[in-house]
Amino acid sequence: SIGIAVSTDKSTATELLRDADAAMYHAKTAGRGRAELFDVQMRARVLGRVRTESALRVALATEEQIHVHYQPLVSLRSGRIVGAEALARWWHPEWGPVAPLEFITVAEDSGLIHELAAQIVRRAARDCAAWQDDPDFAGIAINVSTRQLIQPDELATLVMQAIAAHGITPSFLTLDITESLLIEQLDSARTVLNSLRDLGVHLSLDDFGTGYSSLSYLRNFPFDSVKIDQSLIRDIVDTQQAAAVATAIIEMGHALDLHVIAEGVETQEQAARLQELGCDIAQGF
Ligand code: C2E
Ligand code: CA
Repeated sequence: SIGIAVSTDKSTATELLRDADAAMYHAKTAGRGRAELFDVQMRARVLGRVRTESALRVALATEEQIHVHYQPLVSLRSGRIVGAEALARWWHPEWGPVAPLEFITVAEDSGLIHELAAQIVRRAARDCAAWQDDPDFAGIAINVSTRQLIQPDELATLVMQAIAAHGITPSFLTLDITESLLIEQLDSARTVLNSLRDLGVHLSLDDFGTGYSSLSYLRNFPFDSVKIDQSLIRDIVDTQQAAAVATAIIEMGHALDLHVIAEGVETQEQAARLQELGCDIAQGF
């Protein structure tokens, strides 16, 4: 990845290097293995990320600004809430809410993702302990980042400690793994997922139906459930193609003994359609 900056009469060596560095950063985030020419918006973006990173550091240290929101998982058979997905939320005292996709990317790039994940897992485990005696309760889903699969023991240790600290049944925790993450970290992912599975934790393949949607990942990794991506659910009532793809995923999931969860269910019509198609669980606004 190459960053290019062009000097003017006024530029100092330090400024030139800083700008080339910002352009290189841009080249990396735009997919690596490319060259980018510096422009002033790049400097603004880099400053924005630096600002977000230092504010996130403070938020994680004080443990006051980061929260977990729970989105219910509803059984399409009983119509009852059977669990929830934990979603990280950051409320900055001056900026207000910061979008998860924004601060999670910054957390991943800066290494703060490990502390963020630790806080989310601990809170989810604590709340799981409070809910696990409810007869309808089937568990809490927690999202996992690529960076958490690089070090083989870290995630399993974190989850194991949270389970022990709160005395929860391991199968009440599900980890949501996206496919892109398996592709990037194939070997270490296999080790990590197997050790999580040995702990008794459940695994779900997230955002299925976009990207590669590889059957071999579904078959060869120890998943318990598959989540249909919200982009397919959006059109499920109106377009035949979206319904056909969702049907195929549901039938394939069931053939592989997996629970099928639909994401991004917003209307009664979508829920009714998914129920007809035999989908197990709905999640969404
Ligand atoms: P995801 O795992 O696919 O999570 C679902 C996202 O879709 C959430 O966005 C949720 O608010 C949104 N959503 C849910 N239902 C609906 C709906 O009916 N309609 C629409 N339009 N959207 C819906 P959010 O909270 O912004 O999270 C975005 C992504 O950030 C998540 O995607 C997940 O990959 C990641 N994320 C969230 N929390 C964590 C976390 O604690 N750790 C990690 N590593 N990633 C997280
Ligand atoms: Ca998820």
